[in-house]
Amino acid sequence: LLEEFRPSLTQGRFEVYFQPKYNVRGDAPVLASAEALVRWQHPDLGLLGPGRFIPLLENSGMITELDLFVWERTAEQIAAWQQRFGRTVPVSVNVSRIDMLSSDLPEILKGIIARHGLAPADLMLEITESAYTGEADNIIAMARALREAGFRIEMDDFGTGYSSLGMLTSLPIDALKLDMTFVRNGFGEKRDVRMIQLIIDIAGNLKVPVIAEGVETEEQMRELKAMGCDLIQGYYFSRPVPAEEFEKLLD
Ligand code: C2E
Ligand code: MG
Ligand code: MG
Repeated sequence: LLEEFRPSLTQGRFEVYFQPKYNVRGDAPVLASAEALVRWQHPDLGLLGPGRFIPLLENSGMITELDLFVWERTAEQIAAWQQRFGRTVPVSVNVSRIDMLSSDLPEILKGIIARHGLAPADLMLEITESAYTGEADNIIAMARALREAGFRIEMDDFGTGYSSLGMLTSLPIDALKLDMTFVRNGFGEKRDVRMIQLIIDIAGNLKVPVIAEGVETEEQMRELKAMGCDLIQGYYFSRPVPAEEFEKLLD
């Protein structure tokens, strides 16, 4: 797969899918934003999910090349939807830990949004909680620089990494994404329910919204909404879909 990566990228075999995030604060859910998730259309192996190749690319450092492609493609799509629907659908992209250690990152991202006539708030950045561990100072400094440039930062997979409460209060973040495992384990486990409530309370103290991922059932949706979750992303509303299909949701 590693050998095939660069040729595949130039041959246009990577495709960006979009999964909606719904705002559930009001009576009816409202499509608020989306997350860009990459897929690899492999000639022999079929459609590959990121779990199959992201870890390889991260270990070899090549993830940066793929991420650049995904960010550019996403910015292009946000601009196209602006034209077509007359409204902005902010989309978040995933930013690898390795990307965060490159001092060019703010300039690269500024260049991308400028090329497509977007504001920095239109392209949101997801950084996984575990990226903040080890060399945390560099990562935090980069997150600050990105935020100063106007980008909004969502902490992904929250609750599984090892952020200290002290670090959290000084972190530059705009949203917490509750890790899927808490939702997946269901609401039968009292311990998980308490963890979810605790995370929602932490977000409340930080004055940032909570996004729940991996929501598959109506029951999960209702429970999370009742507990105070602001946004919901998951198969219950939609799987990640190609741009053309996402447009039907926008319509
Ligand atoms: P993530 O950023 O936490 O993305 C959420 C994952 O949960 C996605 O998996 C999504 O398809 C999946 N998901 C969403 N709703 C549900 C649900 O209701 N049930 C279940 N079972 N799963 C759900 P996906 O697309 O396989 O991506 C996996 C991970 O790969 C992502 O986790 C992200 O960390 C990474 N990734 C994806 N695209 C990129 C990319 O362009 N660049 C980088 N660096 N990483 C990426
Ligand atoms: Mg993510
Ligand atoms: Mg996540």
